[in-house]
Amino acid sequence: MKDKIRDALEYYRELGFEELPFRALPATRRPASAAGQKVADSVAKPAPDAIPSPSTEPSVLVGVSGKAEALKALRDEIGSCTRCKLSRGRTNIVFGEGSPEAEIMFIGEAPGREEDAQGRPFVGEAGQHLTRLIEKLGFRRETVYIANVCKCRPPGNRDPEPEEMSTCFPFLSGQVRIIAPKIIISLGKIATYRLMQPSAPISKFSIKKVRGHWFEYRDIPVMPTTHPAYWLRDPKDKFIVIKEAQEAVARLRMLKGEE
Ligand code: URA
Repeated sequence: MKDKIRDALEYYRELGFEELPFRALPATRRPASAAGQKVADSVAKPAPDAIPSPSTEPSVLVGVSGKAEALKALRDEIGSCTRCKLSRGRTNIVFGEGSPEAEIMFIGEAPGREEDAQGRPFVGEAGQHLTRLIEKLGFRRETVYIANVCKCRPPGNRDPEPEEMSTCFPFLSGQVRIIAPKIIISLGKIATYRLMQPSAPISKFSIKKVRGHWFEYRDIPVMPTTHPAYWLRDPKDKFIVIKEAQEAVARLRMLKGEE
């Protein structure tokens, strides 16, 4: 129980709440934001069709009538974000897209030029490779979910800085909690490092060493592979990626009792 409470409190703090948005608080203490009030309402009175909450799920999602609505509430919480300096150069926030009911989620690093222009993840050249991979695995792009660690484009497509990643990560973490995919495929070093949270600094982290080896993020199996932009530079790598991604799909089938 204590762990669950600690988890929930941590999650609220990650989202930027400085006080607990519960109705039980004295009337003089108001939730931190309108979204906080929504949360408070839902916590106080769970809707009958609330999305199922795994034991570690914070009550932030209770009372939201479905995953699509929960994702919308999370997007609203981001608003026209200025939490980090990436906001200064962006055209659009790239929240993520796909099916809220997706069983498989692809996580990348941050939007590039085309994604920034369109407000959609992985729609540039690298994105076309990702779409082809998804189709090769037997899915349609709109049936999976695609998101990034950072929701705004870093200038000149540089790597996101640690502070930018930590500021934005709670929103990715919220997306994962809401969608609760059965499998995640992390694309490249940045996404894999952020989900894996190893103690070594990122400068010592090699995607080539960890790729193809399962790890878990919040009890969800994650298959790390290389970033689609790398597949453009080294087309042979795509063969290994396909193998890794097919292994991920096989595990998904196994989890669903299909194999
Ligand atoms: N690279 C990423 O990591 N994400 C995108 O959405 C596009 C390119």
